[in-house]
Amino acid sequence: MFGSLGDRAASDAAIEESADAEADALGPRALRSPWKWERLLAESRVITSGERWTRRLNGLIHEYELQRRELDRTEPGSARTDHLARKIEDVLQLAAFALPIVRMMAAWPVQAPWSDWLDHFAALAPRALRRPDRVLRVLADLRPMGAIGPVTLDEAARVLADRLSTIEAEPPARRYGRVFVASPAQLRGRSFDVVFVPALAERMFPQKPREDPLLLDEARVQLGVDLTAQPQRAENEKLQLRLAVGAAESRLYVSFPTVEIGEGRPRVPSLYALEVWRAMTGRVPSAEELQQAAARTSQATLAWPAPADRGEAIDALEHDLATLRGLVDEPDHRARGRAQYILQLNGCLQRSVRERFMRGKKAWTHWDGISAANDRVRPILADYRLGARRYSLSALQKYAICPYQFFLGAIYRMRPAEDLEPLQRMDPLTRGSLFHAVQTAFYRRLEAEHALPVTPAGIEHALAALDEGIKATAEQEYELLAPAIDRVWHDEIGAIRRDLRLWVDEIAHAGGEWIPRKFEWAFGYKDGGALAVGRDPTSRAEPVVIDGRFHLHGSIDLVEERAGTGELRVTDHKTGKYRGKDHMIVDGGRALQPVLYSLALEEATGTPVVEGRLYYATTAGGYRDVRIPLTPQARRIGIEVLEIIDRAIETGFLAPAPAEKACAWCDFRPVCGPTAERRVGRFKSQEPLADLLELRRKP
Ligand code: SF4
Repeated sequence: MFGSLGDRAASDAAIEESADAEADALGPRALRSPWKWERLLAESRVITSGERWTRRLNGLIHEYELQRRELDRTEPGSARTDHLARKIEDVLQLAAFALPIVRMMAAWPVQAPWSDWLDHFAALAPRALRRPDRVLRVLADLRPMGAIGPVTLDEAARVLADRLSTIEAEPPARRYGRVFVASPAQLRGRSFDVVFVPALAERMFPQKPREDPLLLDEARVQLGVDLTAQPQRAENEKLQLRLAVGAAESRLYVSFPTVEIGEGRPRVPSLYALEVWRAMTGRVPSAEELQQAAARTSQATLAWPAPADRGEAIDALEHDLATLRGLVDEPDHRARGRAQYILQLNGCLQRSVRERFMRGKKAWTHWDGISAANDRVRPILADYRLGARRYSLSALQKYAICPYQFFLGAIYRMRPAEDLEPLQRMDPLTRGSLFHAVQTAFYRRLEAEHALPVTPAGIEHALAALDEGIKATAEQEYELLAPAIDRVWHDEIGAIRRDLRLWVDEIAHAGGEWIPRKFEWAFGYKDGGALAVGRDPTSRAEPVVIDGRFHLHGSIDLVEERAGTGELRVTDHKTGKYRGKDHMIVDGGRALQPVLYSLALEEATGTPVVEGRLYYATTAGGYRDVRIPLTPQARRIGIEVLEIIDRAIETGFLAPAPAEKACAWCDFRPVCGPTAERRVGRFKSQEPLADLLELRRKP
């Protein structure tokens, strides 16, 4: 429904309609938590109206569409593409839930009597909360204030904030008794059999009394009214302790943490802990004495946060750690099997410990991942051979970096967990999409004007066309994306403009030998038709079969023709930093586009391709032009790379064997853990890696 969002009003109406339909369909079902929900919350601070929220959510959908398009171009078939479709669904769900609420709140008055505000809040609570009963009770308690006012929403919110954030709930009855967790103030007028007072440590309880920076004590005294100052604050803290201690009928436990985990240092007990000690023994100990006594008793350290005696553990974790601590110094024959219960209690831990142990062995086994094709795995992998399904080059490049990364991404189709993008930056995929959209529009316009190739004489016209293209794209996308922070948007568009103007200058001085002919020429795409996502109209839907065996699909940024000869060359534009090598061909299997796109284009068009290149079209990439002539050696190496990857799938060796430092940048690190690279370098047999190492040695 949101494939093309050109018309602002129509698309806003569309999201609202779709949101309403979604709301009907949702019924009482729980709202699925939208991805990056926190980011949306953060954005809500800079989005100030109901209409703007609708536009922003609409913009978010458009942003995901742009990202999906960029992925189709750079990484066709990526697992992240499906994820983006799910994200669009999630935003629709969010819209269905939130927009009616936002609209309702937008209609609230600026000021109203308390009775009106209570009506508004009472109407809001059941719509926004799954269990509104407690909130409704608080609102009912405030009904006697109804005649007061008028007050603003801000004032009403301030009155409610404390009441709603400290709302009390009676714990349900249990046969072993009940635990009431509360602040000392809530213990007034109550008594309990046993009371626990935790955290009697310096700067925890009592809190350091602080002056209110908005109204310092000196000013408070001068005002002459009864405002709290430093002495009363100290008294109030003491009162908190007295309330807590006084609530205990038979027993009182006080405790303090002995270790400050954040700073890795011992904690100092508070004066109150010393007072309690004095009440118990009749003498005030020094802080060190109390600290040492506590450390002796608990023997907990930062490295082993558990008591020496497991009978004193306060939870299951402490109990297990205390058990293990006791076994460390035992001889093997006595310790063996005594912690077995931990593995039996926790299936996940059992699997984790066993996998770690087995992965540390020299031989490659199924514990490492897929390391050999047996009778069960072979027929499954057969469907993933390079002749059985189409691959993109960005997926195949991952094999050289790490076969397991290739396996997880291209075969298992696992997608990396997403980090929250900071609001102060445009998402890299969105940026890449805008960058390439402007480049393609620029080329198409100059082609229509017969102004290609760009020459030094035509540079002024080219720069003017580029500026107009950037302006038009930026205006259209600004409307559609409704960015949260204008400054971020303008900074990013400014940076794209600077990069592209320098790029135009570079291509204008490239000699004029090559004439741009095709832009975004795609092959083997499954969706939408050639023009649907800005592809070149001569793109072909079928995949290309290289060497009669290997099926590929992808999108070539730029195809140029050599003036006079008709020979072709392929360009892959890069927007990141240059990380390649001089005189490379496939860079150890990590840069396949120049050679294999050249072979694919030649195969598809029947026209000789003489060169492939990587062009770093930004300041960050230094406008490096990495040219790779399509020599017989380059052709042979390109085919060999495909053979090696295909053989690995056939033999089923797709284990974690990362290139140097690959794990540091890998999205699947949470799957493999932090030691994969070290394990392969130190313990694992190198024999099955022969093919992979050969691939990495290729120029
Ligand atoms: S974390 Fe390392 S071993 Fe695991 S898939 Fe990534 S690169 Fe390979």
